[in-house]
Amino acid sequence: MLCEMHDFLLAKEIVDELKKIAQEKNLTKVKSVSLEIGQVSLAHDGHPEHTEDISVENLEFGLKSIAKNTPFESTDFKIKKIEGDSWKIVEIEVK
Ligand SMILES: [Zn+2]
Repeated sequence: MLCEMHDFLLAKEIVDELKKIAQEKNLTKVKSVSLEIGQVSLAHDGHPEHTEDISVENLEFGLKSIAKNTPFESTDFKIKKIEGDSWKIVEIEVK
């Protein structure tokens, strides 16, 4: 199954999580974020939950557009594909 929404929704999930962290730690500007991304399962658009291989390019594009007007607006996202079925934030670097 191929769907572009998948990467975009994952980007939103990641930015939501990052915003929470920024709020907790009072971060106003973040230099870079390192992420590890596996095959992530999501439910959306009337699709039942399904697993999909994430396109780094689409994810990066999604992150940049969703992060507008947040502390992550000019953040450099370093995305590493990994085995497994989850994603995680590895490092948040503040200037
Ligand atoms: Zn999908």
